[in-house]
Amino acid sequence: MPTLETPIEKIPKINPKYRKALGKLGIANVRDLLFHFPFRYDDYSELLPISDLSAGETSTVEGEVAASRQIRTWKKKMRIAEVFIKDGSGFVRAVWFNQPFITNSLPKGKMVRLSGKVSLDKNGLFFSNPAWENATREPTNTAGLVPVYPETEGITSKWLRWQIQGLLRLAKKIEDPIPEKILEQLHLPSLSSALKYIHFPQNPQEYILAQKRFAFQEMLALQIASLKIRSTWKKESAAKIPFDEKSIQNFTKSLPFELTGAQKKAAMQIFQDLEKPQPMNRLLNGDVGSGKTLVAALSALSAINAGFQVSLMAPTEVLARQHFESISKSFSNQNTTIGLLTNSYKMINVCHSEHSEESRKNMDDTSKFRDSSTPLRSAQNDKMVLDIKREELLNEIRAGKIDMIIGTHAIIQKDVRFKNLALVIVDEQHRFGVMQRAYLQQEIKTINDPVKTDPKSVHGAGGLKIPHLLSMTATPIPRTLSLAFFGNLDISVLDEMPKNRKPIETKIINEKQREQVYEFVRAQIRSGRQAFVIFPLVEESKALSELKAATAEHKRLSENIFPDLSLGLLHGKLKSSEKEKVMDDFKNKKFDILVATSVVEVGIDVPNATVIIIEDTERFGLSQLHQFRGRVGRGEHQSYCFLFTGSSTAKTKSRLGALEKSNSGFDIAQKDLELRGPGQFLGTRQSGLPDITMENIANVRLIEISKKYAEEIINDDPDLENHPLLAEEIGNLNRSIHLE
Ligand code: ADP
Ligand code: MG
Repeated sequence: MPTLETPIEKIPKINPKYRKALGKLGIANVRDLLFHFPFRYDDYSELLPISDLSAGETSTVEGEVAASRQIRTWKKKMRIAEVFIKDGSGFVRAVWFNQPFITNSLPKGKMVRLSGKVSLDKNGLFFSNPAWENATREPTNTAGLVPVYPETEGITSKWLRWQIQGLLRLAKKIEDPIPEKILEQLHLPSLSSALKYIHFPQNPQEYILAQKRFAFQEMLALQIASLKIRSTWKKESAAKIPFDEKSIQNFTKSLPFELTGAQKKAAMQIFQDLEKPQPMNRLLNGDVGSGKTLVAALSALSAINAGFQVSLMAPTEVLARQHFESISKSFSNQNTTIGLLTNSYKMINVCHSEHSEESRKNMDDTSKFRDSSTPLRSAQNDKMVLDIKREELLNEIRAGKIDMIIGTHAIIQKDVRFKNLALVIVDEQHRFGVMQRAYLQQEIKTINDPVKTDPKSVHGAGGLKIPHLLSMTATPIPRTLSLAFFGNLDISVLDEMPKNRKPIETKIINEKQREQVYEFVRAQIRSGRQAFVIFPLVEESKALSELKAATAEHKRLSENIFPDLSLGLLHGKLKSSEKEKVMDDFKNKKFDILVATSVVEVGIDVPNATVIIIEDTERFGLSQLHQFRGRVGRGEHQSYCFLFTGSSTAKTKSRLGALEKSNSGFDIAQKDLELRGPGQFLGTRQSGLPDITMENIANVRLIEISKKYAEEIINDDPDLENHPLLAEEIGNLNRSIHLE
């Protein structure tokens, strides 16, 4: 007698050889099998007399086998099973290709039910490869709504239906994780009814109701999990960072532009969070070019002015160095020491306002570096950038002499310890792997050097403190998704572009217009601008062919199209220092055109570039194309984006058309979500969720209701002691997906 936990190979009806194939579908025991849901239903609900059949329809008939035989086509050497069925109204033929053994199961005189598509040939109407079963059995494969499952080699939907039907009685043994009261309030079926409805519905209402129930269950668990993470995070204590309005105002006054309304609002939200004794966990979600870096700089400054350290982590060395330079520049009138730590770079930059007491002290502090190393460059504003050894840099960080450390994941290595780190900023957080994020979450608790007696230490009197966390992402997240998946975070949205921006003009281009586009590029360059040509290919495994494609294109463009211009080449196989050089050369106008692979996607800032050509646009999601496009339109000049496509289908047009029509990353993300679904959209992270939930993500009402019940449950029973089944569900969820 099997139970829910019985392994598949122990079920007498299942041949052990199926174990491996079922494993591929993620099915190891009876429970898994019952939770293997159909992805669609074939409607065979109409049982017809044979005389009423017509070609092209999907129908079901019931009758007696009148004759059956195997034939072999001489042309294709195919073996065909041919069976004649009769009912009171007439005869019909059924044929199966390459399944001759079917004739053994369908001997003359047997009562059978057939479902499938009816076709017509010179011999009349016939069923081709219909589903069939013994007419004396309750219908599972024919008649009614027939479930169609995700299959794999050796495991057909027919086989699954048969097995699941035999085991479905065990569904009653599964305890329902959703409290009965909630099911009643929402008019949702119990777990065992829902399982029956989802596998063998009597009508569409039944499976729709069942799907709703399972989606609600997943979403409820997800929301509870988010709330729990949030409350655990809020139980930690963090250093209070007082908001010093005056010094922030002085800083913003020194900027060459006004903050946008959205920047002000986001910064204020952050300042308020930082003043609290609980750690902030906030996501700054803004479109490309919306000015996230500045908001990060403002937050950092607030912490630095209060005497704390800040770290800023970027996903690539190029980006880390760019942040180092731009933040050093904007802080050139502040008294701050900024470090850069990546695998290739270890440097510090001492910024100080002229003649101040503090600045002299700072310079004295670093005099030993000046003896032992050469200044990398000494730029305007007394800025001094020094190249130093990693060990020295780490010592300075530990001693609290560096106010802000910028870098790649090199700054979350075990030996990087701070004196009083109070704010951690993660740029383009979605680019970091799950492992790195998990490490950060865990490591953040001990990131400050624990042996501290210093009163300025973040640990001070209140015991262990952890830094505030600010994550930034340039992939605008549609509201439904952030509601569903980021319930554990507070979110600030930068939905307003700086005023000086002109919307980028975007055009879909076919091969015939290629020459015209090149002419246009030439004209732009003649008037002093620069251009990007992007060769995107996604997978890591294709890095080599990506390199080849970009190299070949670089050659073709330099030799045949723009022999008079100078072209640079940037690709992922270059060393960091080589990439820097290419980028620097491009920024310094040594190149007119930069041919690049997808490495440029992340945050590179060259305001003089006004044209971007993107090849092979079919390969990319809209959000990613929007990211590429964001490489231009960063300065005062009108910018243009040309999307090359070899495809002229209506689908391509409508997809890329979204980019032509809108410059808003949020609109485009919404469209991307509709087209590709949230799994694609969020990357592999959330792929552990079942399809049903994924399809329901767009259902704001479902999310809101789940959230409301999740809050009720957590308020009454914070540790889920009275909801052990939900607790278990959440445990499973945490294993399959990774919330921030
Ligand atoms: P992203 O949000 O994509 O990270 P950045 O922070 O790199 O955008 O900002 C893009 C550009 O916009 C930078 O050159 C920055 O100096 C500029 N910028 C930021 N805020 C403003 C503003 N309020 N007004 C004008 N330009 C701004
Ligand atoms: Mg950025």
